Amino acid sequence: MNIAVVGTGYVGLVTGACFASSGNNVICVDIDENKIDSLKKGIVPFFEPGLEDIVKTNIKEKRLSFTTDIKNAIENSSIIFIAVGTPQSEDGAADISYVLNVAKSIGEYINDYKIIVTKSTVPVGTTEKVRDSIKSCSDIKFDIASNPEFLKEGAAVEDFLKPERVVIGIENPEPGEILKELYSPFMRSQDRAITVSIRSSELSKYASNAMLATRISFMNEVAKLCELVGADVSDVRSVMGSDKRIGRHYLYPGLGYGGSCFPKDVRALVNTAKENNYELKICASVDQVNYDQRVHFFGKIQQFFNGNLEGKNFGIWGLSFKPNTDDIREAPSLFLIDEILEHGASLTVHDPSSMQHVKDIYGDRIEYAKSNYKVCENKDALIICTEWSEYRQPDFQRISKLMNSQVIFDGRNLYNRNMLEKKGFKYFAFGI
Ligand code: NAD
Repeated sequence: MNIAVVGTGYVGLVTGACFASSGNNVICVDIDENKIDSLKKGIVPFFEPGLEDIVKTNIKEKRLSFTTDIKNAIENSSIIFIAVGTPQSEDGAADISYVLNVAKSIGEYINDYKIIVTKSTVPVGTTEKVRDSIKSCSDIKFDIASNPEFLKEGAAVEDFLKPERVVIGIENPEPGEILKELYSPFMRSQDRAITVSIRSSELSKYASNAMLATRISFMNEVAKLCELVGADVSDVRSVMGSDKRIGRHYLYPGLGYGGSCFPKDVRALVNTAKENNYELKICASVDQVNYDQRVHFFGKIQQFFNGNLEGKNFGIWGLSFKPNTDDIREAPSLFLIDEILEHGASLTVHDPSSMQHVKDIYGDRIEYAKSNYKVCENKDALIICTEWSEYRQPDFQRISKLMNSQVIFDGRNLYNRNMLEKKGFKYFAFGI
């Protein structure tokens, strides 16, 4: 099939590269010329394990190409995926202007029958707005569909190639069958397509993210209670997770969720409800608890230093919002960097992949270390923000020698407090 994917971010590029890998001809479009220039050379401008190999292979096989020329991409494809960003706007709603800009271009350049698919996470009713926008410019027949993406950054390729489900929201059965056929190479052992109405499809993506975010915020509240009553949250989590009805995923307390999806999607869902004169009380609290968790963690640091961080020297391990990505959108580390600098302390940071993005924001206001051990030199405390695997079993003796004082604030509950206290560290984490 001839496919166009508009937007070459984490979702669009993975979608385009994976569809090319199953034999389709894919044109990926973006308005960012630098991005397209580097993609044409096979260089992926962000970190996503395994993606660059697939991109390079499919460019070589001439199944995958990149352009800023949306007219050409639209004219030469029969299925168009819209995968542009839907960031949060000022009032908390999703900003769908990028999606509607693409719809306008499709209306302008559509030359024969096509299926137009919203893959971006969009509020209920957006795909219909895309349809109406195209219809207002052209009489050519087309179908619309909603196909929200469930991949996780850091495991995006794997998630796309082995999806747990493919959600297809349609108005007419025919485009649904074509989309199922397109996804069939990734569902060979079992048909994982779930065909629903367009509105249910759009809402299911938000509801899924909100549910996952709820589990995290719920567990963070349980962790706070553990601290107050002298329980250990890892024990409580083990007991809870052993119940099949609850399961073990997304029950880890810590600095809370960040990234380009959960925060904005929870707020967008709250906003959708508000527009329909309904209050989503749980989701609003989930968002608040998530923010409070960062404040609570910084409070632990302040309390240890008797409210005075002036002149103190901190180190941070981990900047990205989660491991295996360079994405720092809504990362808790940024909140802590701001607070630490504002309170007159200095800071050295390390992250395996996202240091440049942080440098773009903070420049020389903080120091950037080449290794996680270098961060520890002459520090009054070490702060863990992201659970990268290389931070999980460090050489604590080495750290102890490098630091001014042996203090660790662990925002991801990576270590065993008894073990660290035996080594002479003061250790602070969540729910213990
Ligand atoms: P992103 O910000 O990484 O990429 C979006 C891309 O769209 C950018 O490269 C931008 O230049 C391009 N763009 C904007 N307007 C354009 C236009 N008119 N024409 C062509 N290109 C245009 O975004 P992302 O993280 O890939 O997310 C895309 C969508 O998928 C969002 O709705 C997001 O909520 C959703 N989503 C993201 C993830 C994730 O893990 N990142 C997972 C599932 C769903």
